[in-house]
Amino acid sequence: MTLYGKPPPGQRKPYKPYDNGKFTHKKEYGERRPEQDSGPRQPFVPRDREGQARPWQQPRGPPTQFQQRPQYGPPQERRQGGYERRDGFGQQREFGERRGRFPPKIIPHQFPGVFTNGRELFTKNLVPGIKVYGEQLLKSGEVEYRKWSPSRSKLGALIASGAKSLPLKADSKVLYLGAASGTTVSHVSDIAIDGVIYAVEFAPRVFRELIEMSRLRKNIIPILADANHPELYSSIAGKVDFVFQDVAQPNQTEIFIKNCKALLNHGGFGILALKARSVDVTIAPQEIFRRSSSELVKGGLEVIETIDIGKFEIDHACFLAKMR
Ligand code: SAM
Repeated sequence: MTLYGKPPPGQRKPYKPYDNGKFTHKKEYGERRPEQDSGPRQPFVPRDREGQARPWQQPRGPPTQFQQRPQYGPPQERRQGGYERRDGFGQQREFGERRGRFPPKIIPHQFPGVFTNGRELFTKNLVPGIKVYGEQLLKSGEVEYRKWSPSRSKLGALIASGAKSLPLKADSKVLYLGAASGTTVSHVSDIAIDGVIYAVEFAPRVFRELIEMSRLRKNIIPILADANHPELYSSIAGKVDFVFQDVAQPNQTEIFIKNCKALLNHGGFGILALKARSVDVTIAPQEIFRRSSSELVKGGLEVIETIDIGKFEIDHACFLAKMR
């Protein structure tokens, strides 16, 4: 029943058309009816007709460890990073800061000095804020990491291709042959922070860029020399723990053996990145890899592992060898 107009004196206007006038308690805002006020609200538990809780429809408990999303810090910290979530419109993300709610979780890789987020490789930037070859810089907490692109670096490709070991440590003394402008050398310098890297390169144009980089990275010693003649720099480098070679020359294996014999410690390790097409374009790459491997053995090295990096560099393989 709907009543229009002013109610007669002593009577009130019904609250609702279906109000029969018996209900007189006027609710304040947010107040519950007295008959409803039966203590604090209880979680809803579905029950069957007999009033028994139905176990297959129990309210959910707290999430299990598998359902729980990882929390990387307090909520305000997790909010950062997104253009949308910053205070004020149009505020830029910090350089290298990831879009989204979670900062990247970078964890140590199985090899010392190498880091990963499960998909990509990183090294800790020895010179924070400075890029070497336009790579991405990422901050995780206080530490800055440099993304290591496997398609730009054969050592990175070797790790990404599943190498079983990498005998490179923080205090390693490294001889790097074919340094070019220092793409891979820079990552080696991030790893061997307490060691030294003798970076040999014979092309003056790229060597200039290598010198510029070594001004900031104090553990790199650039050497302008031909890797065919280790006697030219043996007095500078002395004996080393690790040799890495990437020179793309027809006599790559010979150069590697020569340098290992002259400068590698007994029990030291070397990696030869071999480009099959530079050796002979008329022979199948697999055949060149096989020949090169037996050449290394004849040269007094023990081949520990052969890694095909063809996924990143076509017709390339890396040999991890140990000086006998
Ligand atoms: N390893 C480098 C990197 O990942 O950043 C790239 C090396 S690039 C494929 C090959 C380099 O080896 C070239 O810069 C070339 O000048 C150098 N090279 C070739 N033969 C050489 C030799 N006999 N002695 C020294 N450097 C050599």
